[in-house]
Amino acid sequence: MLTFFGRGSAFTDEQNSAFFEDNGNLVLIDCPMSSFEKLNDMDLAAYSHIYVLVTHTHGDHISGIGMLIDLVQFSVKTPVTIIAPSKEVEDDLRYFLSRLEGCADSWYELTNAGDFKADWFVCSIPTTHTEQLTGKCFGYCLTVEGKRVVYTGDTNTIEPFEKYIEDGSYAYIEMSSHRSPVHLDCVEMKDKIREFTSRGVHVYLMHLDDEKAIAAALGDTGAEFAPLRRGGFTMEDTGRMLAGIFDITNSLYKNMCMNKSADHNLLFNYLTDLGKTIVDADRASFWKWDKRKNQIWTMSATGVDKIVIPADTGLVGKALRSKKTIITNDPYSDPDFNKDIDIKTGYKTKSILVLPVADINGDFIGALQLINKNGEEGFDEVIDPKKLSLAALICGIALESETFLEDSHHDRLTGLKNRMGFYYDFAKKYREYLIPGSGRTMSVFICDIDKFKRVNDTYGHNAGDDVLSFTSHLIDSSCTGKDSVYRWGGEEFVMVMRDTDLEGAVKKAEEIRVKLMNTDIEADGNTLRCTLSFGCALFDPSKSIEENISKADERLYTAKETGRNKVCWE
Ligand code: GH3
Ligand code: MG
Ligand code: MG
Repeated sequence: MLTFFGRGSAFTDEQNSAFFEDNGNLVLIDCPMSSFEKLNDMDLAAYSHIYVLVTHTHGDHISGIGMLIDLVQFSVKTPVTIIAPSKEVEDDLRYFLSRLEGCADSWYELTNAGDFKADWFVCSIPTTHTEQLTGKCFGYCLTVEGKRVVYTGDTNTIEPFEKYIEDGSYAYIEMSSHRSPVHLDCVEMKDKIREFTSRGVHVYLMHLDDEKAIAAALGDTGAEFAPLRRGGFTMEDTGRMLAGIFDITNSLYKNMCMNKSADHNLLFNYLTDLGKTIVDADRASFWKWDKRKNQIWTMSATGVDKIVIPADTGLVGKALRSKKTIITNDPYSDPDFNKDIDIKTGYKTKSILVLPVADINGDFIGALQLINKNGEEGFDEVIDPKKLSLAALICGIALESETFLEDSHHDRLTGLKNRMGFYYDFAKKYREYLIPGSGRTMSVFICDIDKFKRVNDTYGHNAGDDVLSFTSHLIDSSCTGKDSVYRWGGEEFVMVMRDTDLEGAVKKAEEIRVKLMNTDIEADGNTLRCTLSFGCALFDPSKSIEENISKADERLYTAKETGRNKVCWE
């Protein structure tokens, strides 16, 4: 029915005003300045005629109409007719417009509701609002797409409109959260709105000076907020959005550049939030495509925990497979949409936008996903991906750099973290264990495969590699959440055990030693067994990391010297 340029009050940043199209004509209901800005990016030249229905002569209504007349005269060239709700308002309008620079009488037609005829026009409806507008404030009754439409404009009473609000009609009613003698109060109107909706009236609210308060008062009446035009882009929208973006980028800069604990996770959280702010979505997530495991998972997400799914599922998977942006404003009818999270959490997904992101070579490596565009019917195919492009680009570069960093911290053969990963973890994960007197206990062991050179020499290098992989997995599988294992070098491994004393470390080393000793290893077509020697040490925070590892290493040396396949801790 009606689409709104704005549904706020004159003192919010978008005053209520609406439009509809009829037979190639554009019909505007009021044209305040805030709507003129949005009109300006519509293709007004495509209409054969523009009509403006005026409800009252509020200051910025007059200026918006003046600007429209000016625009139409100089660039758009579409004829414009201003319809005043009464002869008296027509006279006022003629007076105001004739004194506005850029509004010559011949540039527009001015008529009043009594004289005006059109299929879509029924009548103006006199009402009361501010004292100054006594006898000069109106709403309208119209026929749009064959349906009865009632628009109250500004009013402090619903009474004059009631006889026009038939069962099943469309009523656009002003609503205020502040009790005043000039507007309808949302709390007082509750029963009346319920009565309308129970009669099948489609009630849409406008002039919303506080959407939250009005939603709280009327949320269960069946009334909805007036539908806003999608895709419009005003200076105010842009200003508000930019302020949000600058807040995020400023925090991002401070956290990344001035805070030692910064990491990629923080970066992804901020970038995801940035995407959410830019397109005004309710939720956002950033997904990594792990091509080795053929999985996609959330690097960061608002509103949900980490999700891991097979790479060929869901709309993110679809976007990555098809290398295309995906937008759906009706996800439940898309077979690729995964309803499980909605079912589990009770959330209702209404619109989704997925933008795949690429690395510096142009290969897709992840995706930015936005869910539920706020306040509108859904995402716009052109404008929203355009707005997101920079955030998506930075996400791609950040993900690539995170992947490089991850790769450089891992050993390809065993999949374990390497010595670089070890030092990185000491800087991040173990910091609090490095403070003398913190009361935190941490232990380490270093272990080395006994006579490993012989494996290589006897069975070949590939068999040696298989033994290394097998042994590393065996050690890794005995890690708890507080333990981490690293490939220290060739056939040497280090385990760091947080909140574990020396006795605990020795026990763990013993378990691993016995397990390996008793396990057959399939190595390049051969079945063989290997043993490990261990040196354990309680981490001493008053000494350097290297000194601590040396202490364990000395004990490993003792184990080797005194017969191998044993654990030493003294
Ligand atoms: P010890 O009991 O004293 O530790 O004897 P060892 O033979 O295990 O020790 P040594 O240092 O003499 O030999 C270690 C061998 O490990 C030498 C090196 O070629 C081999 N090695 C190191 N990295 C790899 C690898 O990635 N793959 C394979 N197959 N062998 C490796
Ligand atoms: Mg060895
Ligand atoms: Mg060695």
